Amino acid sequence: MRTFTGKTLLVATHNQGKLEEIAHLLEPLGISVTSAKAHDLPEPEETGTTFVENARIKAHAAAKATGLPALADDSGIEIDALGGAPGVYTADWAETPSGRDFIMAMNKTHKELEKTGTPAPHTARFCCTLVLAWPDGHDEVFPGVMEGQVVWPMRGDQGHGYDPIFQPQGYQITFGEMDRWEKNKISHRADAFRKLVAALGE
Ligand code: IMP
Repeated sequence: MRTFTGKTLLVATHNQGKLEEIAHLLEPLGISVTSAKAHDLPEPEETGTTFVENARIKAHAAAKATGLPALADDSGIEIDALGGAPGVYTADWAETPSGRDFIMAMNKTHKELEKTGTPAPHTARFCCTLVLAWPDGHDEVFPGVMEGQVVWPMRGDQGHGYDPIFQPQGYQITFGEMDRWEKNKISHRADAFRKLVAALGE
């Protein structure tokens, strides 16, 4: 595995929340972050059919444009009874002409599951794949997963996205009912970042 020896890492996201979360995680390693926004980078089209493909597109585009090593992520939920959907299209299911509507997306998920006629539990997993890419085209991949099931009706108003219908394995509450600190310890994103931080700290 190639190690990262620099002091500044470009995070290929236009999302300020994600940038702050990543900056906080890398601070103890003496690594500071700079954003795609600060470098005025365009958001590349996510044309991949897997999380790793989309994360690679974003990380390599940023590394190539700036000459700096760049980190990107892609995430979403895979539901077994739907053949892995919505998967890389998780955010797309929430898209409306006036912005993202996750209540609509969760209703759609429920309707699609009803159509399959499959009984509960509806096993599912949240995935988060991180890709660290270098300007010479090399990359390292850090996949994170949280197994669980999709439940209905929605429960809880914490978190974001599909949290109210996802019950992680080993818990009787949904991500939407879970304290944010607790979720951030066990989530797919935490899993991927643990692997990244372990690799950067080597
Ligand atoms: P992206 O990684 O920014 O492309 O977003 C993927 C989609 O997955 C977003 O629409 C999120 O709402 C959803 N998603 C990813 N992680 C989570 C999570 O921890 N809870 C709820 N939804 C999530």
